[in-house]
Amino acid sequence: ASTKDILAAAIRSIPDYPKPGIIFRDITTLLGDAAAFRLAVDELVKPYEGMGVDKIAGMEARGFILGGAMAHQLSAGFVPIRKKGKLPYRTVSMAYALEYGTDEMEIHVDAVKPGEKVILCDDLIATGGTAVGAVKLLRQIGAEVVSACFVIDLPDLGGRKNLEALGVEVRTLAE
Ligand code: IMP
Repeated sequence: ASTKDILAAAIRSIPDYPKPGIIFRDITTLLGDAAAFRLAVDELVKPYEGMGVDKIAGMEARGFILGGAMAHQLSAGFVPIRKKGKLPYRTVSMAYALEYGTDEMEIHVDAVKPGEKVILCDDLIATGGTAVGAVKLLRQIGAEVVSACFVIDLPDLGGRKNLEALGVEVRTLAE
């Protein structure tokens, strides 16, 4: 089987979660499968090896798990992007679009040094609203966002295009 098929088979789909009509893609089954987890992290880091990536920025909460593993494998630092009110030091914040209304995410002001090469990581991209907000935050504190990566793309929701419109390369492993 292809990498894509192996990863897709390790992801569980939950109908009507969190609301009727939504199919939630649950990566906890992939994370709990030693071979699938290693494969996912290996595939995520592969395009970035030898590029001199300074930091992986992961979005709360599943982006912490994948991004932490990526950072270790690339010998890069890790930067958490969190929901408002969780980070203890001075932050910059950014509103981002949810299905209904907006929320806010934050990053420490000194999480990245100006010009550092950063890769954004999350489990899944749908509309791209969350990732677009994260790219803007990272750029605000001086990061050079070289790429964004996700295990799952929901291509019908247009997230890839929204990120590419900001000049960010997008890499995904399965649809
Ligand atoms: P977007 O902002 O519309 O691209 O939604 C992506 C964000 O919502 C990411 O942080 C995902 O972790 C989360 N998300 C949306 N749908 C799902 C899903 O089906 N499974 C897991 N996470 C999801």
